[in-house]
Order: sequence, then C-alpha cells, then structure tokens
Amino acid sequence: MSARELLAEGGPLARVLPGYESRPEQLAMATAVEHALESGTGLLVEAGTGTGKSLAYLVPAARSSLRVVISTATKALGEQLIEKDIPTLKRLGLHPDVTLVKGLSNYVCLRRLEEYRQGVATGAVAPEVGIDRILDWVQETSTGDRAELPTLSEEAPVWREVVSSSDTRIGPKCRFYDQCFVTKMRRRAESSQIIVTNHHMLCADLALRGGFTGAQALPDYDAVIFDEAHAIEDVATEFFGVRLTRARVETLVRDADRALRAAGFFLDRSREGSVMRALGDLASGALRLFTSLPRTAHGGRVLLAPEQMVGEFVAGSEQMLRGLDELDAHTRDFVGANDAVLSVARRTRAMTESIKIITRRDEKTRDAYVAFAEPDARGGGAVGASPVEVGPLLRERLWSRRGAVVMTSATLSSGGDFRFIRQRMGAPEDAQELTLPSPFDFASQAGLYVPPRFPEPRDPRWLDAACDEIRRLVAITGGGAFVLCTSVRMMRALRDALRGAWSYPTAMQGESPKRVLLERFRAAGDAVLFATSSFWEGVDVPGRALRLVIIDKLPFDAPNDPVTSARIARLTQEGLDAFDDYQVPTAAIALKQGFGRLIRTRDDAGIVAILDRRIVTRNYGRTLLDSLPPASRLGNLDEVRTFWEVVSAPPTRVVGPARAP
Ligand code: SF4
Repeated sequence: MSARELLAEGGPLARVLPGYESRPEQLAMATAVEHALESGTGLLVEAGTGTGKSLAYLVPAARSSLRVVISTATKALGEQLIEKDIPTLKRLGLHPDVTLVKGLSNYVCLRRLEEYRQGVATGAVAPEVGIDRILDWVQETSTGDRAELPTLSEEAPVWREVVSSSDTRIGPKCRFYDQCFVTKMRRRAESSQIIVTNHHMLCADLALRGGFTGAQALPDYDAVIFDEAHAIEDVATEFFGVRLTRARVETLVRDADRALRAAGFFLDRSREGSVMRALGDLASGALRLFTSLPRTAHGGRVLLAPEQMVGEFVAGSEQMLRGLDELDAHTRDFVGANDAVLSVARRTRAMTESIKIITRRDEKTRDAYVAFAEPDARGGGAVGASPVEVGPLLRERLWSRRGAVVMTSATLSSGGDFRFIRQRMGAPEDAQELTLPSPFDFASQAGLYVPPRFPEPRDPRWLDAACDEIRRLVAITGGGAFVLCTSVRMMRALRDALRGAWSYPTAMQGESPKRVLLERFRAAGDAVLFATSSFWEGVDVPGRALRLVIIDKLPFDAPNDPVTSARIARLTQEGLDAFDDYQVPTAAIALKQGFGRLIRTRDDAGIVAILDRRIVTRNYGRTLLDSLPPASRLGNLDEVRTFWEVVSAPPTRVVGPARAP
C-alpha cells in the first residue's frame, strides 16, 4: 500500500485515528516525498500550516527501506514527531526503529564526571550545587540526557563541568567509551531506520565530514528530510564557520598543562621549559589579540575587515600560532599517553585551523569567509569567521551525495517563487518544487491590518503611535496577544511605554524561560507577551489564547551584521540588486513566519497587525503582501473591531471584508 493509500479518505489512518481528516495537500506531499525517496532526487515543498506535513514525510520514510534522517529547527517539532507522530505510524502498522539524536551538550560525559568527582574527593575542586543529584541520576539513567533532570537549572554551573562537548569528547580511546551515553545513543542511531535530529546536529555532521578529522556526528544515512527548512541557512552559516573565545584559549592552556603533567611528560625538565614557553605564547598572544579588537558603542558582533587586522591583532595571532605549533609538536607523539592528551592534541589542531581562517592566512577560505569580532569590555569576547554563502557548501556536502534530500517548510518561497531559496540552499536544477496551500480558510479566519496614516519606523513619532495602536488593538481582542518585535531594544521600549496600559497578564521574553512563558500564556487565555525573534517561529499556541499578533516592523536583517553586509556586498559585486534579491525575500520569509503564529487550526481566528506602513507604500511591499496567507484586509480600527466581533461570536462565522487585490 502506498503512502497515499495509507493516508487517503476512509483509508487505514482514518480507521485508526478518530477525527483524522484526509487532505488533498497532504496526499500530494506524501506522493512527492515517496517519489523523491525512491528515486534519490531533491524536492522542495512549501506546505502551508495545517497540511499535515509530518505524516506526509514520515509515512513514506517509514515505508521505505532507507535510513532516513529527519531534521527539525525547533525542539518542539522534534518532540512532537517522537511523542505524537511516530506512535501514529505504529497504529498504521509501521514500526520503524527511531532514535532521537540531540546535540552533545544534552548528555553527561562520564569521563568528565569521574574527573570532577575525583577532584571533589581529593579537595582539588569545590563541589558545585547539584553534583550529588547528577551522581545519583547516572546510576539509573539509560540515556544520560539531561532532559530527565528537569529540576537542574539549564544554567547550573555544575552541568558545564560534566557535560559532553566536541572539545572534550575523546571517542574510542576514552576509557568510558563503551558505557558512554553518547556512544550508546550513536550505536542506537546506527541500527535505527529513522533518526530524528535537529539542524544543528545535521549541519555539525556535514561540517565534520568535510573537516580534517574525518569524524562524523551522525551515522551514514540514505536520505535526509528537513522540516522547518527555511532555518537551515542560519544554522549552516554557524556550523560551517569557526569561532574562538579567549576563555576557550585559556581552557586549552590549562588542560594542556594538566594533561602533559599527568602523562609524565615533564619528567624531562627541558621539555617542561619548552611546553611552558608554548603555553605562554598561546596565552599572551590571545591577550594581545583579544584586547586589540575594535570596540563599539552598542556591543554585539562587528565586522573584522582585512584592514583592521593589523598591529597587535596580527602580532597576537602570530604568537598564538607559534605556541600552537610547538604544542602540536609536543603532543603529537604523546597522544597515546592518556585521554586528556588526545583531547588537547585535537583542540590544538582545530584552534590552529580556526585562527588561519579568521586571520585570512588560509588561501582556500580567504574570499569565501567574512571575519567578525564580538569584543567585551574586559578584553575577552570572541573572534570568528562565517561563510558568505552556504549554498556552495550545501551543494558539495549535502546535495551531491547519493540519496534524496527533501526540504519542507510553511515558508520556503518568496511571493510564490522558489528561486531565492534554491540559490541560498545550493539546490540543484533537477530538485523538484511543490507548493501546497494551507487548507485553512484564511479570509474568514484571519484579518490583516496595517494602520492608515501611520508614521514610518524611522519617524520619532512612531513609538507613541505604535503604543496607541497596540493599546487599542489589545482592547478590541481583550488580550490574547503577541507583540513580536524586530529588536530587543524595541521590545523593551514598547513594554516600558505600555506598562500599566491594561490589566491583562503581561510578560516579556527573557523574564522567564521560553517554555514557562508559553505555558503561562496558554493558561491565562488573555495574556499579552512582548517578544523578539525566537517567538516569530516554532511557537505553537492553537486556540483562543492567541488571537492577535502585532508585528512592530518589517523584519529586514540588520544590514550592519557582518554576514548580512558581506552577502549584500557579494551580490552587488555580481551585478545583482542585493535589496530585491536578498533582503526582500529574506524579510518575506520571516514575515510569513511571524504571521504564521496566529492560525494553527481550522478553528482559530484572529488579527495580524503590521505597524509598518512601508508594506503598503513601497514597491517591495507587494512581494511581502503576496507572501502572506490570503487574510481579509482591514483598513481601519472599526473594521478590525467588526471583524473580531464576527469571528469571535460562535457558532456562526461570517466572511469579513473583501481582501484587497
Ligand atoms: S567518549 Fe567522550 S563523551 Fe563519552 S565519556 Fe568519554 S570523553 Fe565523555
């Protein structure tokens, strides 16, 4: 039986899942995914909210005899696949072995835990709060996944001391290798048919496979399906890039001293002097480099242009490379001494590579990467380099390998066109495209409101006007609102200006963990939440609790971000219009994501307000509007009020004002 037949009206799924409604869009997607898996080809599917994407790819994946990796952007979707959709497959008689593979930072490292325990026992280390709980828990856990320890705060210092990481993980030479939770998780994954993971892990795997160690983060697989694929570019930019902090350098210096000392390397006094010189060069080179970083008034990430890499920056990086070279020579023949020396040797080589890329000494990456600095006031901070384009890297490491690559999301196209996402993702010409509209009736479920006669965002009167408008909108819907902002600064300014403006429970991102904020928001039913980018996507609040989404401004990427500015410069050099060809399509996808928070089910209804007139006054506004679901256009607050009264008055729902052409 094909995937289509399993999901069809009156078919096996409808028989076992009460309330299941077969949707033509879902059947079309399942057929296309099945074909891509069978033929090993590429597929891009934009499927609107409510299509039932998860089952449309899970059913063909489970039916195939392939090992399929399914990668999501958000933890929420990964958990939904494991907790809700995989059990549904079982009810259909499909029983694939499935393993959830998370990033290393979710698992306790037995070697580090043992070293920490010994340190505490000998008095060399002061015990952090929570260590007893972790020691008890490792006796019982079969996964080593910290999600089983919800009472241990995410920021607990003790977790940092015992967590696995790519820096500290040793692999087969570790004496705990066979008991290691990461090893066990990987072995489970090796024998599983479906591996559910996230874009970070998948991109880490792609980056590792292309690196000098030949390591990999995931077992070999036959096909990969990306859900929430619009988020891949940002994650790939991070993982194909390099980043170095002063704290990381200092940790390497400390670990190298400890590891070589413990291995008896210093029994020969002349060696000790030489290693100490190397470590001294590394530490003082880092001090020179990090204290020479350009400072900015606003903090954050800044471009590190070639002409800024002079003086102490260059002298510092040369001194670091000298120290690393010498350290590499000392550790190279000693890696068998113990686990810790092996870890130091690996990190030494990786740090050398990173410095060469950042300082443009590596010819292969010189023009392909943009360097950045993240200075802090204390002479610490970070330096790094990101690829200007990830498309060619994805083409080489993802699309050109054998097997299907499927990318799906509710937001892949810009104004209905896939050219932008194809180019950004490096998709080959033979990758198929499919657009599936949402089965929801947006014209009767959602109203889109852009206030008339409103100051533009740069106008100093904008903030007051926005506060007035938000106050009125929140009054109309009686709360139940997300105020989605394009910057932390604006989120705080609006929150402060609207303090005491209503009696509904009100919160702001950052006041509590995201999960807690969302639980409270859902439970309250009439709350107002001020938030920034992390609430624009991957947040699911179905039902009446969320009935108003207010977007402060059009979500253009900050042009002063080093990667964005390098991308704009690259497109301009190539004779393209960076604004039309990059900034507008990126904003269209982000805006569509923000809009997408409102309508999550057929029964949801509400209003999206965009407090940025440019969407109707500028030429590019048409592309942005065409990217949004076909909501009813509301021209003023009276129309908003009427629309809300109609859609919120059960049980009869009447179509609102006509959508503008
Ligand atoms: S193999 Fe790596 S993660 Fe596992 S216990 Fe050893 S060092 Fe830790």
